[in-house]
Amino acid sequence: MGVIKSARPVVIGLEVHLQLNTSSKLFCSCSTDYIGRTPNTNVCPICLAVPGTLPIINDRAVALGARMGLGLHCEIQNYSNFHRKNYFYPDLPKAYQITQYELPIAVGGYMDIEGDGGPKRVRIHHLHLEEDAGKLVHPTTDGRMTGAAYSLVDYNRGGVPLSEVVSEPDMSSPAEAREYVTRLRQLARYLDVSDGEMESGSLRVDANISLSNADGSLGTRVEIKNMNSFKSIERALEYEIGRQNKVLASGGRIIQETRLWDDSEGVTRSMRNKETASDYRYYPEMDLAPIVITDEEIEKFKEDIPELPWEKRERFARDFGLSKEEISVLTEQKELAAYYEGVVNAGAPPERAANWVRMEVLRVINEAGCSITGFGVKPAVLAELVRKIENRELSNTVGKDVLDLLVKDGCSLEDAINRSGASSAKLTGSSLDGLIATVMEANADVVGVIKSGQDKKGGKAKFLHGLIMKESRGQADPKEAAEALSRMLEL
Ligand code: ADP
Ligand code: MG
Ligand code: ZN
Repeated sequence: MGVIKSARPVVIGLEVHLQLNTSSKLFCSCSTDYIGRTPNTNVCPICLAVPGTLPIINDRAVALGARMGLGLHCEIQNYSNFHRKNYFYPDLPKAYQITQYELPIAVGGYMDIEGDGGPKRVRIHHLHLEEDAGKLVHPTTDGRMTGAAYSLVDYNRGGVPLSEVVSEPDMSSPAEAREYVTRLRQLARYLDVSDGEMESGSLRVDANISLSNADGSLGTRVEIKNMNSFKSIERALEYEIGRQNKVLASGGRIIQETRLWDDSEGVTRSMRNKETASDYRYYPEMDLAPIVITDEEIEKFKEDIPELPWEKRERFARDFGLSKEEISVLTEQKELAAYYEGVVNAGAPPERAANWVRMEVLRVINEAGCSITGFGVKPAVLAELVRKIENRELSNTVGKDVLDLLVKDGCSLEDAINRSGASSAKLTGSSLDGLIATVMEANADVVGVIKSGQDKKGGKAKFLHGLIMKESRGQADPKEAAEALSRMLEL
């Protein structure tokens, strides 16, 4: 992604919707499983807005909202409530959305990101709970996006719980916006609050962007919607910076509006002028009691917060002495981090284990198109393999073959080693003896110590064995090399 040159400073604030990991909807007991479902099967009188029905709050959604708020260093409110946001659209059967407006569940807070010029703190304005709308489908016979003769509506998604995280306008480039969303998604996944998948819509981003005035005051902002990937967030914002600069350079004025990103054309288009709060006629939702969370309950939520990404990164740096880059890859997903720790706890040296998990395990997973949870080699087995490589009992090349065999055939480590290149040793007999002799000559002092009987624990002999295995580049059988070495050392 090239660096965008903007005549004026860029200001970006994001509103991120996260679908909360609940099995039932926010105000009824319908299933939240809407992807690929027969339309209008996960519905009931409540989420279809049959008159006379009443909403019942889902406690788990409240708990997840509070949990995410705590991860964002927000203050969890003892008292919060819901409003009705009125607008008429076919995907909204009540003609209003139940959402938190005046008193959201979590307020203030921040998220630290890697900014363009180093570490940066993005302030969080608040996090609130709300229900999702249904989905409109505009079927066209030729697969086009427009020109459908009619529309269909699917209410399976209607009423699914969302949390919306509203940032302060603290980001200064599309890259920072992307980094912020990446960190937010990672946090939501660490907390098991949301899957955070942009492609399937469990994470949705609305981006507000403006160019500042010459006196440093904030410019008029435009809101961009309809970005379906991390890449499109960056592209849409870059396009918008270019467009706004052009408008201002030609003496024009930016109007506050909502624009839609068109991914295939690579442009944003005006959708509607910015609505104001009064357009929505917000008023309190009297059918729901306020959400009351006591200090004791907040303490309990705090106790349940697991180790967070930045804490894990710090601990990995402290305990394992890894580079920033290695840590970033290993802690990207908590499942991968747990796997790596399993390998180290089973006795593998941290650095070599990091290398193997990062390079080889991820390679195998990517090739197989699975995730670390579907990876068949147990941490203890990989630890043993890594240990053998560290001790030079196996070469790196042979180690990779062994790993591939472990994955493909699910056999034992011993079997895999026997069947790999290590067993079909090419360096044997007199040529192996020759190599051993060379190593012994080059390390005459060590040989002297061994021969004088001072190598009681065998450490020096092991050292020579390691050198031999290394020199043989995996072409010698470790056991045969050990026997030949003993013979030649006259042990
Ligand atoms: P609204 O009530 O219209 O949704 P908010 O004040 O709540 O507006 O702001 C919505 C989002 O827009 C927030 O994420 C905020 O950071 C961002 N924002 C506000 N002003 C600007 C601006 N001048 N430039 C870019 N983003 C902005
Ligand atoms: Mg808003
Ligand atoms: Zn329902």
